[in-house]
Amino acid sequence: FFFLPADFVKSATNMDMIPDNTLIPEVAFIGRSNIGKSSLINGLVNRNGLVKTSSKPGHTRMMNFFKVGDKLSLVDMPGYGWKSRDEWGGMILDYLKTRKNLRRIYILVDPSHGLKESDQQIMKLLDSSGLSYQVVLTKIDRLSKTKFSAAKAEIEAELVKDAICCFPMVLGVSSKNKDGLDVLRAAIVKAGQL
Ligand code: GDP
Repeated sequence: FFFLPADFVKSATNMDMIPDNTLIPEVAFIGRSNIGKSSLINGLVNRNGLVKTSSKPGHTRMMNFFKVGDKLSLVDMPGYGWKSRDEWGGMILDYLKTRKNLRRIYILVDPSHGLKESDQQIMKLLDSSGLSYQVVLTKIDRLSKTKFSAAKAEIEAELVKDAICCFPMVLGVSSKNKDGLDVLRAAIVKAGQL
């Protein structure tokens, strides 16, 4: 399924520019800047360079829409962490709250740094809007198996305490050595009921 051709659809800087393809299930990817989001989307669809990995200034506020065949829509959301929550909010929150075909939001987190305050703020925001999200730990090739397991357990313990709408399975991926991509693809297919 993920070997269907993937293509760029469009970029949006406001709600009016968001593509009208609401019949296709959609999943969105969010995370702090530099978390490995572009590399992950490219890895998922097996197309290097689909999402530009060097985020140019000015591009960071855009939402970028991609499609896998005509079956699935993927959204690369602007990175957060540099900007205040209010600045990141606005259009993005409007989109998240109103997008009818949005099936799940993937929040990317670096396991060697753990959950940051900005991640927690975003999760609170999603919880308060009843939006379902799932945590994906990125760049897991950088940690030994033991360190990764410990970091994952710590993050899971925090999520169990606080995160209401969090899907109770934390995934781990490495775009570098393609670890965990199949499991994430399967989760997306299931979330999208494809
Ligand atoms: P984005 O800003 O969230 O889109 O992050 P990028 O995908 O551009 O990645 C940021 C940096 O992390 C780049 O230098 C990537 O080469 C690196 N990176 C991304 N994914 C991985 C990974 O799975 N493993 C390792 N070791 N580095 C990665």
